[in-house]
Amino acid sequence: MAATEEKKRICDVAGCDKEAERSVSPKKVVGTSLSMKNKDSKSAHLCKDHYKTFKKDTKKDRKLDSLGY
Ligand SMILES: [Zn+2]
Repeated sequence: MAATEEKKRICDVAGCDKEAERSVSPKKVVGTSLSMKNKDSKSAHLCKDHYKTFKKDTKKDRKLDSLGY
């Protein structure tokens, strides 16, 4: 239980320690080129840069995406 800090979230992408700006579903992150530090977390926090990458990568996977939701 290390999720005690609520003001500042750090990006959950492995090797990144920037401040997170968005949180997304970790399930969706799995389908992208990003790899998360903690795969068990309920939400994946992404910094600005990685959110951009995430959006780019999820666009490609639109078909797969619509299966679950
Ligand atoms: Zn990042």
